[in-house]
Amino acid sequence: MDAFGEDRAEVIVRAHECGVADIITVGTDLGSSRVAVELAEGHAGVWAAVGFHPHEAGGMSEPDIASLGELTGHPRVVAIGEIGLDFYRDYSPRAAQFQALEWQLALAAELGLPVIIHCRQAEREMLPRLRDWTSGYEPSGGEPPGVIHCFNSDAETARQYLEMGFFISFGAYIGYPASRRNHGVIRSIPRDRLVVETDCPFLPPQDRRGKRNEPASLPRTVELLAEIREVPSEQVARETTANARRLFRLPGG
Ligand SMILES: [Zn+2]
Repeated sequence: MDAFGEDRAEVIVRAHECGVADIITVGTDLGSSRVAVELAEGHAGVWAAVGFHPHEAGGMSEPDIASLGELTGHPRVVAIGEIGLDFYRDYSPRAAQFQALEWQLALAAELGLPVIIHCRQAEREMLPRLRDWTSGYEPSGGEPPGVIHCFNSDAETARQYLEMGFFISFGAYIGYPASRRNHGVIRSIPRDRLVVETDCPFLPPQDRRGKRNEPASLPRTVELLAEIREVPSEQVARETTANARRLFRLPGG
């Protein structure tokens, strides 16, 4: 994203120095997906996800599926995403959001790639769609179907995603005062289904709110999870790393 236009290389170095071994950088439309692939190609430990974010769904047309499919031929593309539904912002017409989601879920199933799901105030519409999709999705090695990114819903919703095989991802927002009500659901996620993310440049840790977030802040989320789940942070780091490698079929996973 443009927020990193000035110092992208330094940001990646800083992340590695803070113990972040691997980064999945995420496209939001065709152009940014191409840039994500280039970035992954140019930096060890950086991988790409390609897709049309629900905010960009209005600009997606059928030929874009083939273009995304071509991009996935690159060995550093590990997922289709972010894809999903966002009825909070509603930047794209809902019909376009449904269509883009359907196309991209079909593409991911065809390629056997995991999906990164963005869902905001649309769980009621998302759950049945993913249930249909996962019931027909059988990757060769029984690999995970994907991850619900920046999860911010209730325990019952989490339970349904988990039942379908999805991983649940949290960011530094779990340390915001308003997230205190989510501690129960954060504790309820099985240790082998939990992953961490930054969502940078968005959602920085509480003490940096209003500023740009970056991958080097990821250990803060690990610490927050450790505090909330009452386990050592080294354990959370180890387990979420192993989970991410398995989810995205990374080397060592
Ligand atoms: Zn998102």
